Amino acid sequence: MTDTPAPEPRYVRCPSCGGPSLYAAENRYRPFCSERCKLQDLGAWASESFRLDAGDGEAGAPTPSNEQPRDA
Ligand SMILES: [Zn+2]
Repeated sequence: MTDTPAPEPRYVRCPSCGGPSLYAAENRYRPFCSERCKLQDLGAWASESFRLDAGDGEAGAPTPSNEQPRDA
């Protein structure tokens, strides 16, 4: 009897679609399951960094109470 363990394919969760993705050299898009998922994730990452870049300033800026016009 051969006692050699069968080489089990290793699967990881695709970060983009959550499906099984073959984690092997033959999968050049790992840890993604496909090229489409890889491009999707890169696109999401790019848009997220773009959003961070666009939304600076404003948040938490103290409003100077001195400059409020008092219209009674
Ligand atoms: Zn996927």
